[in-house]
Amino acid sequence: MTDTQTDIYTTTVGLEIHVELATASKMFCGCRVAFGGDPNTRTCPVCLGMPGSLPVPNEKAIEFTMKIGLALGCTIAEHSLFHRKNYFYPDMPKNYQISQYDSPLCYGGAVEVVGDWGTHPVGITRVHLEEDTGKSIHIGGGGRIADSDYSLEDFNRAGTPLVEIVSEPDIRSADEARAFVTELRATIEALGVSDVRMEEGSMRVDANVSVRRKGEKEYGAKVEVKNMNSIRSVIRALEHEEERQRKALDAGEILIQETRHFDEKSGVTSSMRTKEYAFDYRYFPEPDMVPFEPSAGWVDSIKDSLPESPTTRRERFAREYGLGVKDVGVLTSSLKAAQWFEAAAGAYEGDAKKVVNWIIADLFGLLNEAGLELWESKISPVQLAALVTLIDSGKISGKQAKLVLQGMFESGDDPEKVIAEKGLEQVSDEGAIEAVVDDVIAENAEAAGKVRSGNLGTIGFLVGQVMKKSKGKANPQMVNELLRRKLS
Ligand code: ZN
Ligand code: MN
Repeated sequence: MTDTQTDIYTTTVGLEIHVELATASKMFCGCRVAFGGDPNTRTCPVCLGMPGSLPVPNEKAIEFTMKIGLALGCTIAEHSLFHRKNYFYPDMPKNYQISQYDSPLCYGGAVEVVGDWGTHPVGITRVHLEEDTGKSIHIGGGGRIADSDYSLEDFNRAGTPLVEIVSEPDIRSADEARAFVTELRATIEALGVSDVRMEEGSMRVDANVSVRRKGEKEYGAKVEVKNMNSIRSVIRALEHEEERQRKALDAGEILIQETRHFDEKSGVTSSMRTKEYAFDYRYFPEPDMVPFEPSAGWVDSIKDSLPESPTTRRERFAREYGLGVKDVGVLTSSLKAAQWFEAAAGAYEGDAKKVVNWIIADLFGLLNEAGLELWESKISPVQLAALVTLIDSGKISGKQAKLVLQGMFESGDDPEKVIAEKGLEQVSDEGAIEAVVDDVIAENAEAAGKVRSGNLGTIGFLVGQVMKKSKGKANPQMVNELLRRKLS
């Protein structure tokens, strides 16, 4: 991982996460919210910033933001304001973004993150509501603005409701950041207020990273890292940045506060702008909107409508299914995974731990190789439950079940069909097994004699011979019993 001495440095990470809300219409106008489509087809005078057009806030977006805030344990402000954040960039038609400044809608929550290091809370400073910008497409060069010939603007995204979630600097490693983002994504996904797809940009993560020597009170220079497009790139970017800062400190360099861009291909961050060029956004209250004061009744009704949180779900999985922290963590990493597991556990009549073991020990291996998520598998939860039931009934052995699972994974067929096709059915017919057992005893007289004279350790060898002769199809428990009976 790292080659600098990790024990002499402390890493501090705070995250800023933007989430596009899945409302039907935009934040301040009636234009439809959707991904992609022909450029500039979902625009109007309001989201194009035409003079004289007036914004009207989207009630659903405010409700969704309060949902996120409440799910993260925040307080809903009794009085909050929209501000104008002024800066010039071609993808922003008004030359200011309507955002929130010193009076956000939600503040002061926490998220519990779980990892190999245990669990610990990460504070949520604030959750506020703003509008998204349009999209610049840079033509020519490498697709980045610096070396392009010209840029095109698509304002379909401009004005999409955007929630910004700011964490306290409570995160201490790339792995904790991964756990935090995973938890946050699962929480928001469960609320049904956003697609939270990092690849499509409906969830975007920026990180503030600083490194200091252990024992030093002041934080190191804060570096903001941008352009991380997946959870994997969050880990890569943070590990790289942490290492870069440690090496610089090792070499006696002085780190500066700056914004750095993460390059997906090289896995390296590079400087975008330093403090001297930091923006002065000249925030002032949005004069076209009144302060926002949600009634206690509205807040309470949203609170009552919240679905089970990932934390509650984890506690319930541990209690109801008797699962350990690791299994629970894996199964609740997303709502879809949790739902898939619960469907399988519900269809199975025995101990759900058996189903969990087949998911984690075997199915995940196949999924990883194929680059699929649990819920994208051709195997349905009911089919997995049927497979485990077939093992219980003695129709197939655990070993054969692995082959059956593989077949189910490839074809999506029911386990019975795969068993019949591959001829994997376990033989539990006593007469048939007995014939093989007799043959094996006759062929291995010496070993059989040892068992007869009380050396039971040798019985395993004979079981193995019977299994071999039956091509693995004999029910091992029956073989064992028959051998014991015949050689006692
Ligand atoms: Zn519009
Ligand atoms: Mn923002």
